[in-house]
Amino acid sequence: MTSTLPDPPADLGLEREVALSRHTYMRIGGPAAYFGVPEDLAQFERIATWARERGLRLRVLGGGSNVCISDEGVRDVVVSLRRACGQIAFDGVQVTAGAAVMLPALARAAAEHDLGGLEFAIGIPGSVGGALQTNAGIGDGRCIGDLVRSVEVWRDGGRATLPAEAITFEYRNTSLDHSDDLVLGATLELLARPRAEVDAEMRRLLEARQRTQPTAEPNAGSIFRNPPGDSAGRLVDAAGCKGLEVGHAKVSALHANFIVHDGQGTATDIAAVMAEVQRRVLDASGVRLRPEVEWWGDGPLPLAWQLPSEP
Ligand SMILES: Cc1cc2nc3c(=O)[nH]c(=O)nc-3n(C[C@H](O)[C@H](O)[C@H](O)COP(=O)(O)OP(=O)(O)OC[C@H]3O[C@@H](n4cnc5c(N)ncnc54)[C@H](O)[C@@H]3O)c2cc1C
Repeated sequence: MTSTLPDPPADLGLEREVALSRHTYMRIGGPAAYFGVPEDLAQFERIATWARERGLRLRVLGGGSNVCISDEGVRDVVVSLRRACGQIAFDGVQVTAGAAVMLPALARAAAEHDLGGLEFAIGIPGSVGGALQTNAGIGDGRCIGDLVRSVEVWRDGGRATLPAEAITFEYRNTSLDHSDDLVLGATLELLARPRAEVDAEMRRLLEARQRTQPTAEPNAGSIFRNPPGDSAGRLVDAAGCKGLEVGHAKVSALHANFIVHDGQGTATDIAAVMAEVQRRVLDASGVRLRPEVEWWGDGPLPLAWQLPSEP
């Protein structure tokens, strides 16, 4: 199938048929037709231009912690920006971080500068770029959107800086996600806080995750979005789905909004568990759960993602 796809020039550094399971937190995902880790923005730009001219879709993979990638993979150009956009620079209470900087690393670097504000992000295994697509945050309402001063994006073949006011941040949703912009980095405004306090809070938050989330098994974090005024985990639990298993994947016995697998799980298994959970929750409570995790695939959308559009 991929033999019909063009060979990329060697200087783009793109590999063919790379298993994305090596690059996702869930350790699931078929091959990308092309995968690359550009050395810098100049090489990224050449990749973007080459992909556009050939009508290929360009996708950025961050921490791979909020995607479920089809076992058949994607006929796209997938890039990691970890070399091109991996820098962190502090200026007073502001920090400018590249899109590929991982949130826990950024929260720790901020602590070293006696800066708080990012404590909530310590247990979120995503990148700045990925976090800005979903307005990543935690249950008490703290989220990355509240810290953003500006975002640098790749738009129409060039760089642009968007002030925070130009971006809509809502619960696990931002206007960036519905655009063709690719995030290159962001400037966040933090607040002065002694390192000891920041570290202590981050420790508390990590301990709480260890107690309540299946941290030892591959997963993709919260699999469903919380419906307005309720918790997806509560609804899944109330529908009796804890432990529900299809193939090698199952609903975690520890946290009902997590689907885990035993290392052999496939995207098909995950999607099947999700669809069955949705069916049972709809029967039990009348609520139609929407996936939080994004589907990547070329074929038809799996049932779990086939939902009416957002109200
Ligand atoms: C154990 C665990 C715990 C989690 N806890 C939380 C939590 O508490 N709160 C929370 O909000 N989320 C949580 N998540 C989900 C996930 O970590 C977040 O959604 C995170 O922000 C995703 O970032 P990522 O870099 O992994 O994105 P990816 O999964 O790599 O990508 C997600 C989407 O963002 C796009 N994207 C990534 N980088 C860019 C970029 N530079 N420009 C444009 N698009 C880009 C991708 O193309 C894809 O469409 C958790 C996940 C796990 C596995």
